[in-house]
Amino acid sequence: MSGHHPVHTLAPNLARWSTSNTGVDHVHERSGAAPGPEILVTALVHGNEFSGAIALAELLAAGWRPARGRVTLAFCNVAAFERFDAARPDDSRFVDEDFNRVWASEALDGPRRSAELDRARQLRPFVDRATHLLDLHSMHEPCAPLLVTGTLARNIAFAQALRTASQVVVDSGHADGVRMRDYGEFSDAQGGRIALLLEAGQHWDPRAVSAARDTLMRFLVQAGALARSEAPMGWLLPDREPPAPVVVTDRVVAASMDFRFSGSYAGGEVIARAGTVIATDAGRTVTTPYDDCVLVMPSLRQLRPGVTTVRLGRRA
Ligand SMILES: [Zn+2]
Repeated sequence: MSGHHPVHTLAPNLARWSTSNTGVDHVHERSGAAPGPEILVTALVHGNEFSGAIALAELLAAGWRPARGRVTLAFCNVAAFERFDAARPDDSRFVDEDFNRVWASEALDGPRRSAELDRARQLRPFVDRATHLLDLHSMHEPCAPLLVTGTLARNIAFAQALRTASQVVVDSGHADGVRMRDYGEFSDAQGGRIALLLEAGQHWDPRAVSAARDTLMRFLVQAGALARSEAPMGWLLPDREPPAPVVVTDRVVAASMDFRFSGSYAGGEVIARAGTVIATDAGRTVTTPYDDCVLVMPSLRQLRPGVTTVRLGRRA
């Protein structure tokens, strides 16, 4: 698609956060006086998703540190971010490949190289040591925030307990590669590590920054890095009662460039009747497989054959 959404947020200035205290550029750790959780917060896994990076840069600029444990703040795909051009803002998602599809051990340990694999190998020790991971993203389309949990009950419960307005989305990841939040022990059913992915809203919508700040601070409080009363002023939004989780059951994958939705879906729509046409794809119809089917993250932004255009889910 040629059109893009307006860029209403300024790109964060990351030059001053290049040099860090971890020895890896753009990766900063801040420790509390007392022992506590080992938390990793990541932003810019996709180079054009500003909201999480703005929140992390604000914490660093404020000299913030946790009361307990260690919090690592990582700007991930900085090489892609540095290519950002407001005239072509969709083009800086990655350099060579999607940073959030390279997290299989075989890929990380293998011989193949790319800008993203090289950076993932740099960041891997920080992911390995984290007891808690919050990966901050945003979305192509204007859409209410989502917390993506994977399928393990402990992550779903952790996400619901944050009491944000975000819709919790239970999904099993992507066929075309492993996400960071599904890496290693984060997907171990016997383990205790927590990993969530926030989709904070549209990439360049200021509300996505508010959602990123709120979710990040709630995540840190719930993980035990600080008390709620110690949160920076203005970061927490009012408590919300989140809707019941949506379990993703299907992905609609485009077969052609002639894929069209039947309505202007923004995500969160509940389609009452099974068999309702929600899209056409080169003349074929795409229908809902069951009653009360929820549409999750519809987007034609990256349309090409083989790309997921919408996920379908049931409310738990
Ligand atoms: Zn993303």
